[in-house]
Formats: sequence, C-alpha cells, structure tokens
Amino acid sequence: MTGMTSTARPHLNRRLAEFGTTIFAEMSALATATGAINLGQGFPDTDGPEEIREAAVRALREGRGNQYPPGPGIPELRTAIAAHQRRRYGLSFDPDTEVLVTAGATEAVAASMLALLEPGDEVVALEPYYDSYAASIAMAGGRRVPVTLRPDDTGFRLDLDELRAAVTDRTRLLLINTPHNPTGTVLTRAELTAIAELAVERDLLVVTDEVYEHLVFDDAEHLPLATFPGMRERTVTIGSAGKTFSFTGWKVGWVTGSPELVGAVRSVKQFLTYVSSGPFQYAVAEALALPDSYFEDFRRSMRTRRDLLAEGLTAAGFRVFAPAGTYFITTDIRPLGEKDGFAFCRTLPERAGVVAVPNAVFYDDREAGAPFVRFAFCKKEDVLREAARRLRGM
Ligand SMILES: *Cc1c(COP(=O)(O)O)cnc(C)c1O
Repeated sequence: MTGMTSTARPHLNRRLAEFGTTIFAEMSALATATGAINLGQGFPDTDGPEEIREAAVRALREGRGNQYPPGPGIPELRTAIAAHQRRRYGLSFDPDTEVLVTAGATEAVAASMLALLEPGDEVVALEPYYDSYAASIAMAGGRRVPVTLRPDDTGFRLDLDELRAAVTDRTRLLLINTPHNPTGTVLTRAELTAIAELAVERDLLVVTDEVYEHLVFDDAEHLPLATFPGMRERTVTIGSAGKTFSFTGWKVGWVTGSPELVGAVRSVKQFLTYVSSGPFQYAVAEALALPDSYFEDFRRSMRTRRDLLAEGLTAAGFRVFAPAGTYFITTDIRPLGEKDGFAFCRTLPERAGVVAVPNAVFYDDREAGAPFVRFAFCKKEDVLREAARRLRGM
C-alpha cells in the first residue's frame, strides 16, 4: 500500500501542474472561518423562480429524468433552447443536430476544447479569463494566447489591433466571453464585427461563452457572435441556466452551432459526463419559456444591486468600473493606497468582514491584473448594504 503513494513523479500531470485548487476554495474557506460576507464566488444567495423549482420537483416525482436522459439532452429542453435562440436573436437551430445539453457551461467549454484542438494549437482568449478556460485549453494540449482587456474611462476594452496581432498560423480558435467575467465588459457591435471579420479572414473557429446573455444593463445590448456574417457555421455558442435562472447547482448548460461542430463536442461530452441533471432538464425547458417579464424583472433587480454595491465601493474609496453586464464589479484598489490584490483580499475579511477575489488569478500576466479586485453583487440587497457599510468603515 505505502509503495503506491511514494511514486517519484508528481501525481498531477504536467499539463495541469499549474492548476492547483482554485482561489474560490481558499477565499470561501476564509469567509467561513471569519464570518465575513462572501462576495467572492459568483453564486446567488436566493434561488430562482418558485414555479421552476416546482417543475423540477414534479419531474422527479413523476419519474422523468431519474434515469439516464438521452445523450444530447431531452428533446423538450433542446426544443426550448432552439426556441429561445430564435425568439431572442432570430437564430434558428435544429434541436436534433444543432443543440447539445451539457453539465453546465463548464463542461461545454472543456468538451469544446477537447473536441476542437489538436496538441499545440493556439487559442486566443480575452484576458482576464474565467478560471476554467486555461485549464480546459491545457487539458486539450492547446496553448493559450491572451489578449488583455485594458481599463479606460469606459471600462475594460479590447484592443482590436492586439487581437489581430495575436492570431498566427497556429491559431485554431478564438475563445470569446461576452458579457465578460470578471470585468463586466459587454462587447459592442463594432468590436464583434471586427472579431467576426478576423475569424472569417483567418478561417478560425470561435467558441463564445454567453452565459450572462440576460444580464446586460442600461444601454448595453447582448449580441450573439453567431448572428454576425459568416459566423453561424464557425461558432460554438455556450449558454447556461445557472446564471440566468439562479440555479447554479443544477448544472444545466448547452451548446448551439452547426451539426459538424455540435457533433464534435457531443463526441467528447459522451465520455466526460455522458448525461447529467435529468429532472432539472425538464425544469429548465420550462424556465426558457418564461415570459419576457421574468427576464426584465431579473435584469432590473440585478441592476439595482449593481448600483447599491457600486455606490458602497465608491464611497469606500475604490475606483469602480461600472459593469455593463454580468453580476460582478471589478475595482481598482490603488486609490486606497494598495497595489497587490492578492494581499488585499487575504486581509480584507479581517479588516472589513468582506470577501472578494483578486483579479490576478484570471491573468497570465499577473502584473497586469495585480491592482484589480472583483466583488459579486448577486446577493440580497440587505447583504449588499451591510457589505457596503463594512467597507466604508474599513
Ligand atoms: C459561471 C460561469 C461559467 C460556468 O457556468 P456553469 O453553467 O455553472 O458551468 C462559465 N463561464 C463563465 C464566464 C461563468 O461566469
């Protein structure tokens, strides 16, 4: 037995050696240990609509989805996803060949990378990036090539020249995320047009993570990349019920795209989880058909929370980048006389009773991310008011 544990080489393979445990585990443990308000990890502290929870209960009681659902997802959900894409964006997908249900957007990203990359292929991705991207690219043996969003007066912006310069003969795909976590940037029509033109010109695939499609504020508009000229056939679009319906534990996500692309992702998915979330798939099919008023109310309530937290952070002395989308606020801590987000976040629970996440964890270029710290506002208004009060008293 002991011989088994004392092998000479490390257990975690070289491709993934740089990915230990995520910062969220460390920060959430800190929140528990100190009793701090956890604005680190992005999950809502209120469940989604009661009728959707009931739909899940009903499915479970009626024995729908308690056994392996069909590999691509139940037909009701695939039809609902296709209807949602048509109703909101005028995109039509065949539920049988162009829609795939996944174990959340996380599996959709991983399966897309494993399906579409050959070892050594380059993936151009917007930095800072969601933490699973780097690991998924690495699992597939790909190489990530970051294009860094830089702050200006309007928020974190994409430099289109930098994006063009990042594409080489080895680039296989662009990994895009809009609305963007953690910066809250929503890519504009002009930016998306340029991305689409680049993809067509260089014959690249595009994987676009649009899990915050329903969380855009003020004048911002979510425009799916697949709606741009030449994009439908080269784009894998990823969605998820977790963020839109406040059921992050259900892990129901999906992929839409051409039969060739979705078929490739499905080939991988069947050997990762095969299927998942049986009864929840029925409930999400109902959720996607909720009237527009649900989506409008959801957006309005999140905007109120954004404003609450943004005001509190501003009053506490942070520089706040008001997000156009998502449920995160990125701040700059330099006006507070701080410059290292890691050190700042490690002491914040003691100093102020609040947990946040250092944006540096989303960067390859840790220096570029050092002064930025992310707060989640998908929490009850009272919780946000209390967090704001604590931060002001820091
Ligand atoms: C939360 C999140 C995901 C993961 O979504 P799941 O459906 O919970 O797997 C993927 N991408 C981004 C940008 C996210 O913020």
